[in-house]
Amino acid sequence: MKINEAAQFLCWSRDQVKAAIETGIEKRPGSLSVKLKALTIGKEYDICDEELDKFIGEFYSDEPKRNIPTDIRRKLLVEARYRCAVCSGTSSLEFHHIIEYSEIAHHDPQHMVVLCATCHNRCTKGEIDALAQREFKKRLQLLYPPVDDFPARFSWGDLRKLIIEMHELMSIENPSSSSKSDFLVIDIEKKNELNKMSPEYYEFMRDNHQPYFGRIEEFLRNPANEKIANLYYEIVDELNSKIAAERDRFDGFENVMVEIRDSAKTRLVDNPRTLNVLLSFTYFKCDVGRKNA
Ligand SMILES: [Zn+2]
Repeated sequence: MKINEAAQFLCWSRDQVKAAIETGIEKRPGSLSVKLKALTIGKEYDICDEELDKFIGEFYSDEPKRNIPTDIRRKLLVEARYRCAVCSGTSSLEFHHIIEYSEIAHHDPQHMVVLCATCHNRCTKGEIDALAQREFKKRLQLLYPPVDDFPARFSWGDLRKLIIEMHELMSIENPSSSSKSDFLVIDIEKKNELNKMSPEYYEFMRDNHQPYFGRIEEFLRNPANEKIANLYYEIVDELNSKIAAERDRFDGFENVMVEIRDSAKTRLVDNPRTLNVLLSFTYFKCDVGRKNA
């Protein structure tokens, strides 16, 4: 990309980006300066996504809130057509976290939106509240429907909501001291055999859900999400004891999964996809189901 585009992505001026390439830019006055690597093509600089990401990571290493990956920046700018989602202005565009970063550490494009500095300030001050911000975001998506990419639809915000709702629904009264199953490395074939998991259902989970396990793991490991993660571990323990009590009623383990899913779904209709992915995750990565003979 050219300097102007990098400037747009960084919410900086062209001169600042130029300085970052030529001399480096200090994070804070007096600190070591960080350089942005670029190729020189004729009189132009050319910056690749990887180098910009590296620069962003280094420059904002003390400010994780601003450490937004390049592809997320691009996705948001494209969604907003390089305009402020509120006033349609095109100058000094910034990235706003609708779910505040202080509340939950994320750069989830589903919960972010592009705003100009003025409107951003109004949002931060609460003049434009989160509900209204979502309305503005929804309008962008109505005008320009997002491409149907599954990962973007699987958001941390949804996951968070789902875990809280599931926990409430299961009314866990005496949480055991929670196993905190720390993402075990599981011999999945052996586990399938022990649990009489059918190959078809296993393959379905693997192909449709496994690609999102990384995001769940990242979410649960993030210290900012510790409380939610604890709820999740309690859910896992509860599922396990339910399964242990009822397993004999079922032929194959997938029937257990289907039943859990269906009974939960009738009450958690909001986001069946996230629920499916989460349940598969509990089987693949955590303690749900038998691990040892
Ligand atoms: Zn604006």
